[in-house]
Amino acid sequence: MNILIDPGHGGFDPGACSNGLREADYVLAVGRYLMTYLQTLGHEAHLTRSSDHALGLSKAADLEERCKMERSWRPALFLSIHCNAASNELARGFEIWTSPGQTRSDVAAESLVEAFAAAFPQRLIRRDLADGDSDKESRFRVLTGTVGPAVLVELGFVTHAEEAQWLRDNQIAIVRALAAGIEGYARTQEAA
Ligand SMILES: [Zn+2]
Repeated sequence: MNILIDPGHGGFDPGACSNGLREADYVLAVGRYLMTYLQTLGHEAHLTRSSDHALGLSKAADLEERCKMERSWRPALFLSIHCNAASNELARGFEIWTSPGQTRSDVAAESLVEAFAAAFPQRLIRRDLADGDSDKESRFRVLTGTVGPAVLVELGFVTHAEEAQWLRDNQIAIVRALAAGIEGYARTQEAA
């Protein structure tokens, strides 16, 4: 399967910074590991950015460039990786977002949620059950500007002290869980 991994932020935009974690750096490290790991499993994986730089001069241009890469390569899955932040420092948990409506993105999101729940049974998964899915629907630019299946994961809150430490301590396990979710999705596509 072809997967485009999108580490959020970079360059002028560091993303969320708290408890010694800088989102742009953290998601780049996760993205790089994930690309290598998926390649060893036989998938074709690429990154939207492979160093600490933005893809445009403004936030809008940067996001548009990420969407453009997806539209030209047409991967089977676009996975945007982020960390969360909240003014309430007790906010914590894993979140997954897809574009509105029922699409193949929802199948990928369910597979990723299942893999996360299996890998980290103690961790909170923030679910929006209003539409019966585990994913929260949103209109994030990278989810609406892409044409194929696209999901955005918020791995955890850097603003929650324990969760920031958890993110630091579990980088490899997180990569494996993401890969397991992607492989689960790949199997549903083979079966279809
Ligand atoms: Zn982010």
